[in-house]
Amino acid sequence: MDKVRGILIGRMQPVHNGHMEVIKKILNEVDEIIIGIGSAQLSHEIKDPFTAGERIVMMTQALAEIDIDPSRYYIIPMQDINFNALWVSHVKMITPPFSVVYSGNPLVKQLFSEEGFEVRQPPLYDRLNLSGTEVRRRIVNDDNWQELVPDATVELLREIDGTTRLKNLSIKEISDI
Ligand code: NAD
Repeated sequence: MDKVRGILIGRMQPVHNGHMEVIKKILNEVDEIIIGIGSAQLSHEIKDPFTAGERIVMMTQALAEIDIDPSRYYIIPMQDINFNALWVSHVKMITPPFSVVYSGNPLVKQLFSEEGFEVRQPPLYDRLNLSGTEVRRRIVNDDNWQELVPDATVELLREIDGTTRLKNLSIKEISDI
């Protein structure tokens, strides 16, 4: 029988525990998951501080931490394109074939539904705290961000001095106002 593949696309700025909970849930429902690292062209911005390569490392190591078999996932960087109406075709062109789309993002859900895909909304896990916005806010304010992310994200940020990068970006943007 053909394998059922699902896709989850996220900016993952940075990878946090909400992403990992969703991925575990998806892997209970499908044979393989495609993890799209969205807005791959962006980095060094306050809302998008980490490069696609850095986010791939975070995700790969975080999946290893929870013992996910590497034969069950594909991690694919995806650049944004300016044309929403063409975006689904762009995604299809650079990924293995898939039939189920998982997303809580209204635009993503809309675009894939219009193209006839089955779209499933995964449950939200502690959305108040488990969001990239909250993790980045805590990093800038020296609050406990580590509790919201896998060890792999902590380790990668240590390796690249990612907290200093984010703090410098936030200072720059404030002084630019
Ligand atoms: P995100 O990292 O915020 O979220 C990724 C996914 O994880 C989402 O489906 C979200 O609902 C889920 N998630 C996050 N926190 C969760 C939690 N606590 N519990 C459960 N689920 C949780 O990323 P995003 O902003 O949704 O990423 C969409 C990407 O698609 C962006 O990169 C965007 O630019 C891209 N996109 C591009 C185009 C285009 O190029 N024209 C069009 C649409 C979308």
